[in-house]
Amino acid sequence: MSSAVVRVSLTPAVFHLPEPVNAVSRSYGQQPIVPRGPRLKPLMDDLRDGIRRALGAEGYEPVLMTGSGSTAVAAVLGSCLTPTDRLLVVRNGAYGDRIASFAKQLGQPLVDLESPYGERPDLGRIEQLCSSGQVDAVAMIYGCTSSCNLNPIAEVAAIARRYQVKLLLDGISALFIEPMDLEGLGAAAVMGSCNKGLHSHPNLTFALVRRDLMDQMEHIAPRVPSLELYQTWLKQSGGGHPYTIDPMSLCQARAALGYLEAIGGVAARHRLYQRRCELLRAGYERLGLTIARWEGMPLQSIGTALHIPERTSYDELADRLASDPLDGHVFEIYAAQGKLSGKLFRVFHMGEYPLEAYEIFLRALAMALP
Ligand SMILES: *Cc1c(COP(=O)(O)O)cnc(C)c1O
Repeated sequence: MSSAVVRVSLTPAVFHLPEPVNAVSRSYGQQPIVPRGPRLKPLMDDLRDGIRRALGAEGYEPVLMTGSGSTAVAAVLGSCLTPTDRLLVVRNGAYGDRIASFAKQLGQPLVDLESPYGERPDLGRIEQLCSSGQVDAVAMIYGCTSSCNLNPIAEVAAIARRYQVKLLLDGISALFIEPMDLEGLGAAAVMGSCNKGLHSHPNLTFALVRRDLMDQMEHIAPRVPSLELYQTWLKQSGGGHPYTIDPMSLCQARAALGYLEAIGGVAARHRLYQRRCELLRAGYERLGLTIARWEGMPLQSIGTALHIPERTSYDELADRLASDPLDGHVFEIYAAQGKLSGKLFRVFHMGEYPLEAYEIFLRALAMALP
């Protein structure tokens, strides 16, 4: 008997999801939920409460939106800032670039603090900009998906608190996996995703807004049509949504939250991802690969950036891993982004795969290397 080849996604965007999420996908069509009907409110309530509980974010209001993580970025920039707020964008990777680009499109006054991809941001400079009253808000990524490391969020959050600067945090690749004390950090708003760490589909996203900021937002005119966080929150608090929202996506995300709770919550998922890190990183080193590291920047739990070895290219490696099955598995790795793409490639270990799949991957990688 020959079973189908398992296509293991080693990407951070689309990967195998928990069985309860797949069960929704299989059965939803038989009993669709009318998005304005009485069955929407309990679903919306469950999901918003579940997100708050899973993340220990009691002081925050989750707002759900159709879209991917970038949608949450646009919603937060366009709803949480006034048009005159001077925004410090701390960027050291592709997603910091995205925040800067979205903020520019909105005409936001920008203070651009750019460092090379992956490098630790200049905390002294951040402190100086905040203490001298040159900025009203700071935006930073926590999980730096383009370099697979973590920004010093505790340090930057402490600076933001000290000078009462609004901290807008991109937690898209970190929430539900990297333990985070949002209340302690005092982030004003957090951009999230229902895909990455939550393990649902990439078509539903959310932002968390601290309650005092949400109250102020009654008087901040929203600037991104259809992604007005305050108006959307008002509707969602009553169990509705200002536009059509896909109830199947809500059911899938609710199932993903239920599954996360059942396995032991964020702490348990973090441990599971750490076991994958240990297995894979030890394996990379045995194979003579070099893990990309930057001083003062701990590695992220969701994946690893590796130097492309000599005598091969990303395309060649990716092609071999995706086309030559080993023990019934093929693997899709990920190129690095932008400025790093000629030098590094990335292997993420997200989603619902047993450790054994990563052991097979290490053997496949050994065979694919020159
Ligand atoms: C994935 C990701 C995003 C959003 O990207 P999408 O293309 O919208 O999924 C934003 N920030 C970070 C840090 C991410 O990892």
